[in-house]
Amino acid sequence: MSDTPDSAVRTYTEQHRAAFLDDLAEWLRIPSVSAQPEHDKDVRRSAEWLSGKLAGTGFPVTEIWETPGAPAVFAEWPSEDPDAPVVLVYGHHDVQPAAREDGWSSDPFEPVIRDGRMYGRGAADDKGQVLFHTLGVRAHLAATGRTTPAVHLKLLIEGEEESGSPHFRALAEERAARLAADAVIVSDTGMWDENTPTVCTGMRGLAECEIELSGPGQDIHSGSFGGAVPNPATEIARLVAALHDPEGRVAVPGFYDGVAELTDTERALFAELPFDEATWLRTAASHATAGEAGYSTLERVWARPTAEVNGIGGGYQGAGSKTVIPSSAMVKLSFRLVAGQDPERIQEAVRAWAKARIPAGVRHRITFSPATRPCLTPLDHPALQAVARAMGRAFGTKILFTREGGSGPAADLQDVLGAPVLFLGISVPSDGWHGPDEKVELDLLLKGVETAAHLWSELADALR
Ligand SMILES: [Zn+2]
Repeated sequence: MSDTPDSAVRTYTEQHRAAFLDDLAEWLRIPSVSAQPEHDKDVRRSAEWLSGKLAGTGFPVTEIWETPGAPAVFAEWPSEDPDAPVVLVYGHHDVQPAAREDGWSSDPFEPVIRDGRMYGRGAADDKGQVLFHTLGVRAHLAATGRTTPAVHLKLLIEGEEESGSPHFRALAEERAARLAADAVIVSDTGMWDENTPTVCTGMRGLAECEIELSGPGQDIHSGSFGGAVPNPATEIARLVAALHDPEGRVAVPGFYDGVAELTDTERALFAELPFDEATWLRTAASHATAGEAGYSTLERVWARPTAEVNGIGGGYQGAGSKTVIPSSAMVKLSFRLVAGQDPERIQEAVRAWAKARIPAGVRHRITFSPATRPCLTPLDHPALQAVARAMGRAFGTKILFTREGGSGPAADLQDVLGAPVLFLGISVPSDGWHGPDEKVELDLLLKGVETAAHLWSELADALR
């Protein structure tokens, strides 16, 4: 009796589990902290280590791509099938800073396994989730009897994600022809929890600005002049107060133009997630939920655009009193954007909205930081369904769907390559990304291997 492909993948994964975990531990010992210049050599060493590992896995093409900052790793494994779809995997090999004294139970760069978990900086974010693709593709070949993957497989593993990916967009544009793909798989995310495997379908975008208002040329006496000249701090407060309507909607005209509304199916699937508001509030260190009327908490953070005040200031803030009209005041705003919103148009809308509200005699300066686009793959997209099927085969349970409220460079790939972005991650919220005692659950990591092993066959069928 022959094995089913699913049991063959499982057997292969189990047989190679120990060597795979040794490899991961070896990679985690390289402190590839992109934010700290003293680790530049380590980031390079990490790129070289990965490039060697991918060559050893069987990728006929492995290259180190230089950027003005840290190097990225590119690898390519063409399919023998000339009609095979092209798939690009994205991840990163740099890590967040970590030091024992931050509260780690053991050396962050000397990985240890305790209770079925591997602890070490980068275990989940993102080395573990990059590395599962190496054993994954080997298991795919072993289980299908193929000598090349069912898709034309490419990997791009950058080295500056934890530093804000400053050169990523330029790299993607410059190498767009080499990176061209029919779908992008981002393995730098997580799932709902240990018992609820999920596929993320999109991320919000981000536009940020600082508004500075100046009135008098210097702080002036509030007795001599107060009530007779405009006060920049009052005007900043008026702006902030006008940002939302009473229903919690953003009151900037045109803000919602083009917004992709949630479908009934998506809302129903979100509602199936085991969401506990009290627990969520504890994580949020907050005492009540608030936001746009008519939407659940998950819908608000995943699928609705928002405006938030990140910082506000002006005038005297020292001890006691100082009766002045301040010469200037400022506010920092951020806007999370969803599919259908164009960051440049949002910037224009915010600028026009603010300018129209600033009274005569108050000068203003509005500065926008570089924006990040939102990305979203519709639930019925064949490639997204293929990811869910691959994950379902590995986990043996129903796969639900999430989105990500944050923003990331994945959207650049969607933008530059014009390909749908799909998220495949097995990390869970307790993995401690960026914090002390970062870990990865070994059982889930191996499920990641199995999912990756099924994915190339599923995608080849779905995208053909
Ligand atoms: Zn990451």
